[in-house]
Amino acid sequence: SPTTYAAPGEDGALVAFRSRYDHYIGGEYVPPTGGQYFENPTPVTGKTFTEVARGDSTDVDKAVAAAWKAFPAWGKTSVTERANILNRIADRMEQNLEMLAVAETWENGKPIRETLGADIPLAIDHFRYFAGAIRAQEGSTGEIDHDTVAYHFHEPLGVVAQIIPWNFPILMAVWKLAPALAAGNCVVLKPAEQTPASIHVLLGLIEDLLPAGVVNVVNGFGFEVGAPLAQHPDVRKVAFTGETTTGRLIMQYASQNLIPVTLELGGKSPNVFFADVAQEKDAFYDKALEGFAFFNLNQGEVCTCPSRALVAKEIYDGFVADGLDRVRAVKQGHPLDVSTMIGAQASNDQLEKILSYIDIGKQEGAKLLTGGERADLGGELSGGYYVTPTVFEGDNSMRIFQEEIFGPVLALTSFSGYDDAIRIANDTLYGLGAGVWSREATTLYRAGRDIQAGRVWSNTYHQYPAGAAFGGYKQSGVGRENHKMMLDHYQQTKNLLVSYAEGPM
Ligand code: NAD
Repeated sequence: SPTTYAAPGEDGALVAFRSRYDHYIGGEYVPPTGGQYFENPTPVTGKTFTEVARGDSTDVDKAVAAAWKAFPAWGKTSVTERANILNRIADRMEQNLEMLAVAETWENGKPIRETLGADIPLAIDHFRYFAGAIRAQEGSTGEIDHDTVAYHFHEPLGVVAQIIPWNFPILMAVWKLAPALAAGNCVVLKPAEQTPASIHVLLGLIEDLLPAGVVNVVNGFGFEVGAPLAQHPDVRKVAFTGETTTGRLIMQYASQNLIPVTLELGGKSPNVFFADVAQEKDAFYDKALEGFAFFNLNQGEVCTCPSRALVAKEIYDGFVADGLDRVRAVKQGHPLDVSTMIGAQASNDQLEKILSYIDIGKQEGAKLLTGGERADLGGELSGGYYVTPTVFEGDNSMRIFQEEIFGPVLALTSFSGYDDAIRIANDTLYGLGAGVWSREATTLYRAGRDIQAGRVWSNTYHQYPAGAAFGGYKQSGVGRENHKMMLDHYQQTKNLLVSYAEGPM
């Protein structure tokens, strides 16, 4: 593997983006009804690299109709056939892993070491996991009485809508596509307007493997495409990942047609370091420091970003000094350089939002321990959207501790004893992720149960295996993704209640 990947447009580039992307409807590339396109810049340099169809409700109608046209056949394919298709998609992605990683990095700004090592491999595994899960799924029969039997079948819902954000464009698409397709549904997907192109790169790679109309992609903005899609009377479910405020709207839209929703929303996850972590300066201590600096993964643009660090008073000074050294060692650079650990924020809007929160932190009296500014990496990267890893020390009541920043900004505080740690950890509207670090199994277990979050990592963080349920407590969401239990969100139960008695009834 190279140490630096060639940028799209340069000699030796692994990916060639098209200059323009249309919608993908019924197995064809379809121009937007309104004839409008919008520009898509790369966060790496801030320069536009492609333009993308700006959809509207007419395009949504076309895509929903195409999906229903494909559904009667797709919904009746055998699970073996569907699983084989998902496995073939995974194989094709694996054969093109580096190309997909470059596409994802160029569009989102995240470092290539993450797209090569996490985003794309996790997406591949997701298809394989749901290929296996659907084959292992069984219905059930119940004996109501000697001559009466209740059969329970899993049936697909039909056409489902999926609306995704920009922080993991390919992985978020696959988290939603794999279970929906495994369960026999057809999909209309709306990518985020900030990152619409890499999904088309993926589609271009796998389109021959899926029957026309099974997956449709309509590009565009939230109110112009997302809202009509979520309100469409012919859609049977909406799966959404994005901001909590948008999630509220999605629930309202879905209520118009009384369809189910799954919502993966925001977070303000606590990362709790108990005093025994610093008992020895050994490999475990080193692992905990890595966990402390992990808020920089994906430039902090992760719904589960460990954006609040809670450190036991007894070890605070020493642990924080070592933790800051670790944060300062996070290498910022060209996202296509394999040694880069933190790349560019996904959009200029996001960059400005993060910088404004850094100002808010200063204004409300938080102490800036490191970072706190836009990074100018020079040359063509000067136009990109880079922020230095930032750590603030303060109090959990501050806005930077309560509001999702979605950037490489850590809000750090101390706690006195177990109860105080749990009180601070739970003092948030959100409940998506949490981390707990201790050498004591009992502490890990108790804290894991006491923290109100859907996922609590113990002595680790930011691992996302397909087989572990993921989702939010409180205002972080409704329903779960990953794990085979997710198939329940994409299926309905058909009960056949059959009498084999000759009569009387
Ligand atoms: P967002 O809510 O602004 O946008 C998400 C998607 O919804 C985009 O495709 C957007 O176009 C669309 N959208 C916006 N308004 C809409 C509307 N009125 N109707 C229908 N669709 C609409 O969120 P974002 O800023 O793109 O993403 C960042 C957020 O996503 C963060 O809050 C983050 O925590 C969250 N997130 C959550 C998870 C999770 O699994 N819980 C994972 C990743 C990101």
